[in-house]
Amino acid sequence: MIVQNRLEPPAQPFAALRKMSAQIGRDPMLVQAAGGNTSVKHGDVMWIKASGTLLADAVAKDIFVPVDLPDMQKALQANEPRADRPAEFLIPGSSQLRPSIETSLHAVFSQAVVVHVHCVHTLAHAILENRETLLAQRLEGFEWALVPYAKPGANLARIVRGLLEENPKIDVIILGNHGLIVAGDSVEETHQLLNKVHEKLAISPNADAKVDLVGLQSLASGSAYELPYYLPLHQLALDEKRVQQAIFGSLYPDHVIFCGIAATALNPNETLDQAAQRVVATGAPPPVFVIVPECGVLMRKDASSGAIALMRCLTDVLSRVSVDAELIYLSTEQNLELLDWDAEKYRQALNAK
Ligand SMILES: [Zn+2]
Repeated sequence: MIVQNRLEPPAQPFAALRKMSAQIGRDPMLVQAAGGNTSVKHGDVMWIKASGTLLADAVAKDIFVPVDLPDMQKALQANEPRADRPAEFLIPGSSQLRPSIETSLHAVFSQAVVVHVHCVHTLAHAILENRETLLAQRLEGFEWALVPYAKPGANLARIVRGLLEENPKIDVIILGNHGLIVAGDSVEETHQLLNKVHEKLAISPNADAKVDLVGLQSLASGSAYELPYYLPLHQLALDEKRVQQAIFGSLYPDHVIFCGIAATALNPNETLDQAAQRVVATGAPPPVFVIVPECGVLMRKDASSGAIALMRCLTDVLSRVSVDAELIYLSTEQNLELLDWDAEKYRQALNAK
């Protein structure tokens, strides 16, 4: 009888998983900050990215942790509250890190390899009112399904499991207002599927409009804000309807985690300090970036790398959406449950280091 060493990852698929993970982790069109996660199942153990770690580090560092797969599946099936605490399924003695908060989402797939990313092209569809029609056109021939937004965790995993039980052939899941999951029997097959979906959903960004760098610089002078390094960010400010799309609400969870609820635009005759105070008065930290309508965008000098990645993501997503598009936003309750979430605070703290 072969006894599986549950602390030792399976050599072959694991090396390939690390390589693929590092590759997709370096692509801001697929992964931003500590977002996204990958996994491989081996016997009764699932190796998954640890919470707060970066996929880009998958080759250079040990970012994967082993979890007890049957135990997690059992907890999900029985609706046990611990299904939402992935740390409880970590193989004892294996790691100081915690499994990703999205571990349960991987556990419900029968396929050996699962990749979950916050793909910009996917998001540019998944936030639209008419997403179902558009996705059906673009993903014809794929075994795919759309899941409306639910907080990442066990509840979302159960919804996905229900779809997979109805149609076990599904290997592409579009998560409304969230991202993409693909699954396959090998790392290579799954990576290819990811690339195919990414290509099918690809949208070119809008053309550039004129930025008022001089105006922005004088506004930022002496403030906590500065010009951002990512120039397309200014596009958020250069169309009145685009500004409205950005400030109306939050479009996906990691924006809320890293940049707060929605975005902030400077009101007429308001200073940056006054705009920041207006946000602080709601109990939130000062905005990590401020849209200056018709001018451009300023970001805080102390913005974390995670916040910068998610500012960029908002630009990359909205520049692929019509200014007239009807968007689906997270509700206030959905925003708040994300901010009250202990696991996310942990992830933020790790990311801030
Ligand atoms: Zn996610």
